[in-house]
Amino acid sequence: MTPQASSPPGLDEVLAAVDSALRDGRRRLAEAAATPGSFAAAQREVLGKRSALASVNALLGGLDPDGRRQAGAALGAARKELEEEANRLEAVVAEAERRQRVAAERLDLTEMAIGPKTPPLSHSGRGVGRLHLVTQTRDELEDTFVAMGFAVAEGPEAETDWYNFEALNMPPAHPARGMWDTLYLRLGEPGTVLLRTHTSPVQIHLLEAGELPIYAVMPGRCYRRDTPDARHLPVFHQIEGLVVDRGITFGDLAGVIEAFTTSFFGPAIHSRLRPSYFPFTEPSAEFEVTCPICRGEGCRTCSGSGWIELGGCGMVDPNVFSAVGIDPERYSGFAFGFGIDRLAQVRAELSDMRALIDNDIRFLRQF
Ligand SMILES: [Zn+2]
Repeated sequence: MTPQASSPPGLDEVLAAVDSALRDGRRRLAEAAATPGSFAAAQREVLGKRSALASVNALLGGLDPDGRRQAGAALGAARKELEEEANRLEAVVAEAERRQRVAAERLDLTEMAIGPKTPPLSHSGRGVGRLHLVTQTRDELEDTFVAMGFAVAEGPEAETDWYNFEALNMPPAHPARGMWDTLYLRLGEPGTVLLRTHTSPVQIHLLEAGELPIYAVMPGRCYRRDTPDARHLPVFHQIEGLVVDRGITFGDLAGVIEAFTTSFFGPAIHSRLRPSYFPFTEPSAEFEVTCPICRGEGCRTCSGSGWIELGGCGMVDPNVFSAVGIDPERYSGFAFGFGIDRLAQVRAELSDMRALIDNDIRFLRQF
């Protein structure tokens, strides 16, 4: 038996052990930081229950009280230094891993964006881009309505409760508000400013401007707290129409819808109205068009009915006119609206609407 083995280590030996644990620990952490994927293990090795620091700690019991105090302080300082070094290196390692991941997942977008060449204008050999299917559809809709004598109006995407609900005949606690899962903004009084759930607030802006008569369509982006699925997106597009003049009747509404349908889809596609409910129109209707895929024969898309529901419409509720100071005895009008994404989906025969927001260039360049 050697004397060292039988007698407990003295203060000098313990302090030397602290020093060596500190030195080894620093080196071990630095090496691991430079070797991908090994840092977490090294951290456990240097600071964990089986670390050199932990074994030195076990030696403190063999020292006299004064030596224990000195060695304990040295050990605490060494542990603190190693912990700080480990934290610093951990951040460095995480950042390096993030960079590596980004580099690995990176797409060369300049290469992807090369489309069909369009000589002689394209000196670089690169083709031109194209508008998104939804934008193309919106442009076509605007063109169709402009040709019918409508103006195009736009409004803000962040609205107050008044424009999005109240002025549209939906006072606070009106059950129809439940039809929309609204996204509110942290702005002003809680629950007063929101991302518009439909394009209808633009109607109120137009009516407030007070320039009658009105023949306008209002395309734009809308927001609802919907989980994306094959037929819903939380950010989507609507186009809304509003006509206000003297002597406007439900017959005018039906006529405009039919004229739009044949003009947009072609002469083989017609429209029909079915009674429905909307808070801001009375009477209200849903409008359907001949299924553009089967041309009315019945198919999977139209569930065999030959018709596809496109949107809602109706005569402007007198309460809406009163809310903006227009005399409902002198003026009447109608409004209609439908989803642009939905229309694009039907026309392009997309089974899943989420394809519109995947940003897969192979999908988008088909249109
Ligand atoms: Zn069909």
